[in-house]
Amino acid sequence: MSTVASEKGEALIELRNVCVDFRIRSSILKPVSLRALDTISLAVHRGRTLGVVGESGSGKSTAAKVLIGLLAPSSGQIFFGGEEVKKFDAKTRKRIGRVVSVVFQDPATALNSRMLVRDALVDPLQVHGIGDDNSRQRRVSELVSLVGLPQSVLDAIPAQLSGGQRQRVAIARALALEPQVIVADEPTSALDVSVRAQILNLLQDLKRELNLGMVFISHDIQTVRHISNDIAVMNRGKVIEYGPGAQVLGSPSQNYTRTLLAAAPSLLHV
Ligand code: ADP
Ligand code: MG
Repeated sequence: MSTVASEKGEALIELRNVCVDFRIRSSILKPVSLRALDTISLAVHRGRTLGVVGESGSGKSTAAKVLIGLLAPSSGQIFFGGEEVKKFDAKTRKRIGRVVSVVFQDPATALNSRMLVRDALVDPLQVHGIGDDNSRQRRVSELVSLVGLPQSVLDAIPAQLSGGQRQRVAIARALALEPQVIVADEPTSALDVSVRAQILNLLQDLKRELNLGMVFISHDIQTVRHISNDIAVMNRGKVIEYGPGAQVLGSPSQNYTRTLLAAAPSLLHV
């Protein structure tokens, strides 16, 4: 292990040489496979934000799915809390669910539109058999305060909330089981420009307050620069640059990274 890695402590999640192949059909109906992740290695540490940036189709969401245990690697190794996971059965997935949670681009993915916010937040606690009715209700109250929402949202359905409020509820739900890591896949891309900075600030505050490891995924390199300690640049399924943000963006070694830097107006300033 390198000195830098040992200073950061043991990784909460680590991918080593992970490949993901998808079976796709060619026009002549012969099975063809597409390598969506090509030998990638990444580590997520407590109290640090790993920014993952790359063009659309570069493999970011596939990497997110592997990091949350939703998708098994075709080859390579994955460690959660220092322990290698080889089979992704129900029991293992449940254990992984206590380590890491995800916030998607569109809060509708995480929230049933007809379910009261209160029920959406109680649900993960029930599924994991945590606490009793009283303690769950207390936890749900805490969660909405934690994400800066009034208690009244508990009795609303997602359709009655604004996009920013819905994303706050999705973040609250992601925090319900007190995970060590949050993976946020383009969490502000579907939101109005006016509320994007608020959601980014909320994620940063939560990371600090709860000492979380965070993976922040975006196609916008300026946002990633703003929020990340470490940065991984992805291109065509590969991690082509990886290291501390200042190093990666201060002296990018790849033309691709320079192109991203030159092309991107910050979403925070548009
Ligand atoms: P990004 O999030 O960076 O836009 P993705 O990880 O979604 O990229 O996709 C990476 C590549 O894998 C793309 O070429 C995409 O079309 C392909 N891909 C993603 N998911 C699947 C799937 N379930 N089946 C087949 N191909 C997929
Ligand atoms: Mg994506």
